Formats: sequence, C-alpha cells, structure tokens
Amino acid sequence: MRVLVTGAAGFLGSHLCDRLIAEGHQVIGMDNFVTGRPENLDHLGGEPRFTFIEGDVSEFIDLPGDELGAVMHFASPASPNPNSPYGYVNLPIQTMKAGALGTHNSLGVARAYQARFLLASTSEIYGDPKVHPQPESYWGHVNPIGERSVYDEAKRFAEALTLAYHRYHGIDTRIVRIFNTYGPRMRLDDGRAIPNFIHQALTGQPLTVFGDGAQTRSFCYVDDLIEGIYRLLLSDEHLPVNIGNPTEMTILELARVVNKVVENPVEITFLPGKRGEGDPQRRRPDISRAQEILGWQPTIQLEEGLRRTLPYYQGNL
Ligand code: UDP
Repeated sequence: MRVLVTGAAGFLGSHLCDRLIAEGHQVIGMDNFVTGRPENLDHLGGEPRFTFIEGDVSEFIDLPGDELGAVMHFASPASPNPNSPYGYVNLPIQTMKAGALGTHNSLGVARAYQARFLLASTSEIYGDPKVHPQPESYWGHVNPIGERSVYDEAKRFAEALTLAYHRYHGIDTRIVRIFNTYGPRMRLDDGRAIPNFIHQALTGQPLTVFGDGAQTRSFCYVDDLIEGIYRLLLSDEHLPVNIGNPTEMTILELARVVNKVVENPVEITFLPGKRGEGDPQRRRPDISRAQEILGWQPTIQLEEGLRRTLPYYQGNL
C-alpha cells in the first residue's frame, strides 16, 4: 500500500519508513525539520518507493495521487528536557499544533482517501501515574497546565479526536501508546536520558542524574517498538495499545549500565531536585493487550540494545 508518514525525518518516523519499505510498501514521508533531521532519511535518497514532502502537518496537507492505504501520524517534538533546544518545553506552540491541528489534518487525509490511520500516542497520557504498571484502562494523572502539558494534553486531544473520527466518520483508526524508546538516530542533543548518558560517557563527562535517580523508566529498543507498531497497523484494534518494554529500572541503574556498555566508566553526579516539575516518578507499561491482540513482546534487552546503539553515537560525536 501507499503510506503517508508524518514526522518521517524523526527518530521513530525514519525507522518506520525503513520498515514499511522493507515490507514492500510505498512511502510518502513528510517533515518540517523542527526536530527531525534530513540525515535520518539520506539512505532512502535512491529508493524509488520513497518520496519526501517538506511540510508542516499543522497546515493543510495536499498529497499527490489518488490512492492511499494508510496515514501514520508521528510528527511531534517528544523530549521533555527543558535544557534541550529540541525539547517540547522550548517548542510549546509547535508541539500543541502538531498534536492538535496536525492530528486533525492527518485524519482529514485519511478520511479523504478512506485510508486507515495510526496515531503515535504516548505513555505521557498517564502523566505521573498513580497506577503501576500502567494498563490502557488507566485514565492518568496529568497536570493540564504544567510544563509537560503542551505534549500530554496535545496527545490526549489527539487520542480523543482519533476516536471521534472513528466513531463519527467510521475511519479505520489505531492508537499506539509509546513508552520510552531508544536506538540509533535519536538526536545526541535530544536531552533524554539514554542519548545524554551515552554522550557524556563517550566524552568523559560525568553522567548527570536528576534528583536521587530513584525514578524509574522501562526502555524499549527501537526495532522491538517498530515491530509492535507494524503489527498494530495490520490489526483491527481501534482502542489504544501500549507498546514498550516492561523491564523497569531506576535512572541510577540505567546510568550504571551505560557506564558498563560504553566501557569508559565516568562519575555519576546527582543534580539537585527532579528535572523540573512533573517528571514522573515511575513508569512501566502493562503490555498484556499487545501480547494478546498482536502476539507481541520485546525481545531485545537493554545491554544488547545499547550495544547496537553505541556505534551511531560514536560516529556522530
Ligand atoms: N534524566 C536524568 N539525566 C539526564 C536525562 C534524564 O536523570 O541527563 C532522567 C529524567 O529526570 C527522567 C528520566 O531520566 O526521570 C527519563 O527521562 P527522559 O528525558 O529520557 O524521558 P521521559 O521518560 O522523562 O520522557
């Protein structure tokens, strides 16, 4: 089929384009390079089944051609780190526009072509969760006006709009709630824990752990994530599905594993306080639905995933 991928030059978008092409589909990638990078798509330059449109999803999307099988909406800033120029705290309006207007426009394209639609949603839907691990049935604990609200609320709006198009217009929609993911092509200066720690370890700087490092996350290698998303695209499931790795660890443990894998042990420093307000204390996906509906679970454990990721950062210092 012919598939539109928004955010195609981003970390996940570019891996998704690769997977779709490997499966024999034709891909139209779209990006405005606010956080994505053209280099992420360089290797598709000579690929006849890939075309690229530079554009902003929050404006009307005018696609060439009269056939389209699917729209996959992945365009959005996604890093919460206020110290990164690519974090959504520093791109608040663009983030809300990509999640709200961008979702509306992408759903409009799906409706015009009678294509299926897949929304990249997020574990941030659950906010700083009071239920652990997080099943899809949990409504979340989100501050509507906090620093993270521009991302969280845009994605919550996007989910509501996606189901509105499904219920009211009969669009064949899917929603994936993506948990922490890592791998090659996540920007070195993205500001998130894994690129930050790898960058710091490779350059001999101390690993900066926010707070006491007792906050937890569960990290999924990008290939596992894309496999789950591809299976969801081919499924008939309209309600949200968590995709992520349920192996939970503290951020301090993560820092130690990065030190071990990089083989250049550096100090770990603790930065007082948590990283701004609203940094969730713990996060772990309940993936029962993905296991039941998609027969999916991750297969790549953290050390192996970090080993696969390392050469990318070594080559991009
Ligand atoms: N973190 C950290 N040091 C860093 C970057 C992140 O201690 O240099 C912490 C951050 O405070 C958070 C966790 O690592 O508790 C995961 O942050 P990340 O930005 O990777 O993603 P999030 O899960 O918060 O969206």
